[in-house]
Amino acid sequence: MSDVFARPLPKLQGLTAEFYAFTKRRELRFQRCTACGVWRHVPRLWCAACGSEAWEWARSAGEGAVYAWSVTHKPMHPGFLDLPYATVVVELAEGPRLLTWVRDVAPADLRIGLPVRVDFEDASDAVTLPIFRPR
Ligand SMILES: [Zn+2]
Repeated sequence: MSDVFARPLPKLQGLTAEFYAFTKRRELRFQRCTACGVWRHVPRLWCAACGSEAWEWARSAGEGAVYAWSVTHKPMHPGFLDLPYATVVVELAEGPRLLTWVRDVAPADLRIGLPVRVDFEDASDAVTLPIFRPR
C-alpha cells in the first residue's frame, strides 16, 4: 500500500469539464453573459444579473488581485500535508472570483489587493489547475 495520497481533483463533467478543457490548453476562460456582459464563475446555466440563458466562454487576461484567503494549519485531507497552506480567492480584472492557489508567496505574506497573474499547473494527465503568482 502506498503512502502517497492523491489530492482531490475536479470532476470533469458538464460545464466544469468545459472550463478545465480550456485550462488544459493554458487558457483561463469564464462564462460571460451575451445579454448583459457580466462575467461569472462557477459555471452555471443562467446569468444571476439578468436571468439570460445566453452566454459564451470569454478569455480572461489572467490578471487580478488577492481578494481573500484562509490559512490551513491542520490537514483535512492526507493529500495536503505541506503545511501551512493558503487557499486564496483571486478576483480577476473582468470580475469573476476564483478559489485557487497563489504560489511564491508564504501565507503570512499574503495581503488584500496583491496583484497576481494566472499560471497553470498540471495536477494529473487530465486536469490542469489555474494557479496564480505575484506580478
Ligand atoms: Zn446577464
